[in-house]
Amino acid sequence: MKTYKDALEYGKQRLLECEIEDANLDAWLLLEYVSGISRSWYFVHEDEEISENDIEEYQILIEQRGKHIPLQQLTKEAYFYGMKFFVNENVLIPRQDTEVLVEQVLSLSKEKENLKLLDMCTGSGCILLALLANLKQASGTGVDLSEKALEVAQRNSKELGIEVSWVQSDLFDKVSGSYDIIVSNPPYIETSVIEGLMDEVKLYEPRMALDGTEDGLFFYREITMQAGKYLKNNGILAFEIGYNQGKAVSEFMKENGYKEVQVLQDLAGLDRVVTGRIEKE
Ligand code: GLN
Repeated sequence: MKTYKDALEYGKQRLLECEIEDANLDAWLLLEYVSGISRSWYFVHEDEEISENDIEEYQILIEQRGKHIPLQQLTKEAYFYGMKFFVNENVLIPRQDTEVLVEQVLSLSKEKENLKLLDMCTGSGCILLALLANLKQASGTGVDLSEKALEVAQRNSKELGIEVSWVQSDLFDKVSGSYDIIVSNPPYIETSVIEGLMDEVKLYEPRMALDGTEDGLFFYREITMQAGKYLKNNGILAFEIGYNQGKAVSEFMKENGYKEVQVLQDLAGLDRVVTGRIEKE
């Protein structure tokens, strides 16, 4: 194996053998990551020699990807809402579907300034940081039970230059203050469903970021019941949900005094977000 072309062919072949779904794309992305080249550069220089160091590192990463370790855990980065986030094995990798939640919260916050936001189960911090980057003068609190997740979130806020107060807490236990908006993409997968997920998720993403208990709804129930105490009058609660949870979650919200409860769909047309406004007086 001498040239960039040889390396890429090897990567593609190896990932196909390992039944990696996007074998070609991932072989490309890892080559770009390792050698810092771009695709347009490659097409002019594919017959040039690749350095031994690069080829060695490339082979290691291809083997790891072949074990179904998520690509983003290998490159330690993921893009969300046009922003780059550091990720590792301690946080859920930001998903494109979650951008619908960010968009909906931004559209409900239009023209408003000085909003106070809280993100429950913040993980990498991607939701809160994307919101703060797009709101005027807003302030944010990000909450997670996992200290290791909060280290990632903190690193992201530093790298993006966005100030956030990070709180380690079991749901609202250590939370104080009152907020205009509470957002959450909590763990929501039914425990029995996790075993059937792809290896990338099941083996390598944090179980505590996925497992929503037996019926998948534990966190929605708890957060909906408690959030009212921490929301200002007319405050907004906004959740990401699983495709089959719209009805149950909107019912919890209505039962707990939320008005204008809406269920919104993602790009695939599946239920993905529920929002409501609390009336406290
Ligand atoms: N809030 C983070 C995200 O949406 C983490 C969610 C989680 O760990 N369940 O990516």
